[in-house]
Amino acid sequence: MIIAVASGKGGTGKTTIASSLALAVSPASTTFLDCDVEAPNAHFFLEPTFSQHEEVGLLIPQVDEERCTACGRCAEVCQYHAIVVLAGKVLVFPELCHGCGSCTLNCPEDAIKEVPDVLGMLEGGRTASGIYFARGVLNIGEPMAVPIIRQLKAWQPVQDGEVVIRDVPPGTSCPVVESIRGADFVVLVTEPTPFGLHDLRLAAQLVRDLELPAGVIVNRDGIGDRQVDDYCREAGLPIMMRIPMDRRIAEALAQGHLLVEAFPEYLPRFQDLYAQIRTLVEAGTGSELQTQSTRIKMGSLQGIRQTE
Ligand code: SF4
Ligand code: SF4
Repeated sequence: MIIAVASGKGGTGKTTIASSLALAVSPASTTFLDCDVEAPNAHFFLEPTFSQHEEVGLLIPQVDEERCTACGRCAEVCQYHAIVVLAGKVLVFPELCHGCGSCTLNCPEDAIKEVPDVLGMLEGGRTASGIYFARGVLNIGEPMAVPIIRQLKAWQPVQDGEVVIRDVPPGTSCPVVESIRGADFVVLVTEPTPFGLHDLRLAAQLVRDLELPAGVIVNRDGIGDRQVDDYCREAGLPIMMRIPMDRRIAEALAQGHLLVEAFPEYLPRFQDLYAQIRTLVEAGTGSELQTQSTRIKMGSLQGIRQTE
């Protein structure tokens, strides 16, 4: 089962929830994916020992000027304006290239070959409790988070009976869509404030568009008003857990402690959360969305460098 833990807004406690949920499920059969590749931070809580490292990226076009006739066909077929022909020269903009391969396929002179462009790194290893932990790390200055997330999701195939917890980036942009896509259930973490409600609405709409079942966790309960509750009731989103605003919790998390370890009374609550999710998924509200195969030829650039 794949559970995505998301929030429309940063700082709601999404990683706190995701990491405690991972510990509440049987750790030896749990995989934790930190999909927040621009700012991964779940390793601070779960403290894995990374033993696998693999560079990932895209295959981008490289033009052989000897063969190129400047016909412009490559620029015509590029949907991302990543390749242009100017004054008889072909210019490639790697930061815009999605590695789709259309330009290579459509070049009548066979003048384009594809070369790897490294975007970042995947790292994997086990935590002391036995959780398999993997994260993507986008290189500084790289704008393309989605290929790293896509490769992170595909890095280790999901085994029968395994539970995968995906810690989704904040917001509702493309990296969030990619992190949620293919999940069986989405946990939306929010806080009962006007900002929290605003971003919850956006996240809930995204999940609805992807036709995924979802439930809500209200973090820092008690600091705001009842508008989040009212919205959840109207939207048919179950509130699956509430975590009160508590200075002791904030201090423990600030020191890098896991919620279920600092406050063991939360362990059965997270186990109950997982049981609720299983019930909802097994009741047939699981995702009908099939994991979509990608046409982007980014792949794990095996052959560039792989270390174990
Ligand atoms: S399609 Fe091929 S030949 Fe035509 S401009 Fe592009 S690289 Fe050159
Ligand atoms: S690989 Fe795709 S996105 Fe990149 S330049 Fe070619 S057509 Fe454009």
